[in-house]
Amino acid sequence: MSAGAAAAPESIDGGLILAEPGAAGAAAFAGTGGGRIRFAEGRIAAVEPGRPSPGGEGLLLLPALANAHDHGWGLSTLAFGAADDALELWMPDLSRNPRVDPYLRALVAFARMAESGICVANHCHNTQNSDALVAEAQGVSRAAADVGVRVAFAMPFFDRNATVYGDRTKLLDTLEPADRAYVAAPAMMRPMALNFALMDEIAAFEHPLFSLQYGPVAPQWAENATLAAIAEASALTGRRVHMHLLETKRQREWADAHYPDGLLNFLDTLGLLSPRLSVAHGVWLRPGEYELMAERGVSVSVNSSSNLRLRSGRAAMADMVAAGVNVGVGLDGLSLDDDNDMLRELRLAWRLNAGDGLAPAITPAAVLDVACRTGRRSILGDDGGGGLAPGAPADLLAVDFAALTYDCVGERLDPRYLLLARGAKRHVARLIVAGREIVRDARCLSVDLPAAEAALIEAARSAVPDVDGGRIGRLQQAVAGYYGCGLHCELSEPDDSPSSP
Ligand SMILES: [Zn+2]
Repeated sequence: MSAGAAAAPESIDGGLILAEPGAAGAAAFAGTGGGRIRFAEGRIAAVEPGRPSPGGEGLLLLPALANAHDHGWGLSTLAFGAADDALELWMPDLSRNPRVDPYLRALVAFARMAESGICVANHCHNTQNSDALVAEAQGVSRAAADVGVRVAFAMPFFDRNATVYGDRTKLLDTLEPADRAYVAAPAMMRPMALNFALMDEIAAFEHPLFSLQYGPVAPQWAENATLAAIAEASALTGRRVHMHLLETKRQREWADAHYPDGLLNFLDTLGLLSPRLSVAHGVWLRPGEYELMAERGVSVSVNSSSNLRLRSGRAAMADMVAAGVNVGVGLDGLSLDDDNDMLRELRLAWRLNAGDGLAPAITPAAVLDVACRTGRRSILGDDGGGGLAPGAPADLLAVDFAALTYDCVGERLDPRYLLLARGAKRHVARLIVAGREIVRDARCLSVDLPAAEAALIEAARSAVPDVDGGRIGRLQQAVAGYYGCGLHCELSEPDDSPSSP
């Protein structure tokens, strides 16, 4: 699949350089001129203002984008027959996902991200085959190296609340015996001790572009003891933690019922709320909780398209930013047009959060700061990246600004505004990650994406699982009934954690 054309350029010229897209006000815009950026050994060596070479005149240069939450599906959920639905009803449909080579799946996912201007992704791993998790992680690690994007891999710790939040026997009771047997044995659960041991094995696949994180899937999907052990291990090792948090209304209701002193307070007593933690969604966080997250340095990934497609709601991105929370934007593999277009995702996040006042609740500069700097920090911690300055990692996006502004006349608008208002992945002229150019003219250079996609689709077609659609439908109906009756708020939650190995 390797196209092998990726190379390490010595420099790049641009007609406009947004060295710090989040810098406030007109000062940043006034300081935006053209020039040349030089690279050496994967870092930015110099930023030289001046007249760009003719080839660079139409380019806008800025730090490359961060995808703060994703799963690296490769094959879209729509492609394998899972229609968008409320999260809890959507999940049973994920059993339709064909098992294919994890390397190929991740290769396609990461190459698409690269074509969208993304240099770094938080990869929340969905296990296809619990017995092959180590091999899956190895495939993802190889794919990150081959495409050339930075990937933080969240190793899934899932040991609580299979199928529904709360007492699943109450769900099983409503099913026919044959259906009951089908959902009785949760396949992907593993005991905590085994997950820690797997972490140690997977750590062997780390390389400069691939790092490993603890991935408690979510508070409702990880035992309290597991969350506590991860908080402790993270403090000890410095490894980051990534988990879903309060994505849906049902999750909030479950959390309020099961943690009367507050779920966030509970996580805080464990020491889990720290600058090493990033959470995805946070749609149902409450205003007072933003302050606590900000105080503890926790990052939140806002996934607007996913929240719309799975009817989760809208995360209050502007309120989070105003409270000082470190925010990122994530595609979650569920972009609005199912096209993995990060610039369109940023536009959606911006428009959904600008509010209805005379002054916008969030500015284009603030959204680009999230896209480039704080989103990156949510995945990697502070690695000196997210801006174009000497010494920073050479992660740079060149946008075809001439194409984006082909019809503009008279006094030009702030380029950050135009980029957010119009930008799309077709405008990605060049993407440089760690000094290596991996995208040119909106096409991935490091791997042959069309060939990889064709191979993935062919592999998936011959691996379509033998699922009973009628049974999935009956399960979804039972799940809807379960939540509809408020059973997730009842406190009898049996221990369904997997036994020790
Ligand atoms: Zn997710």
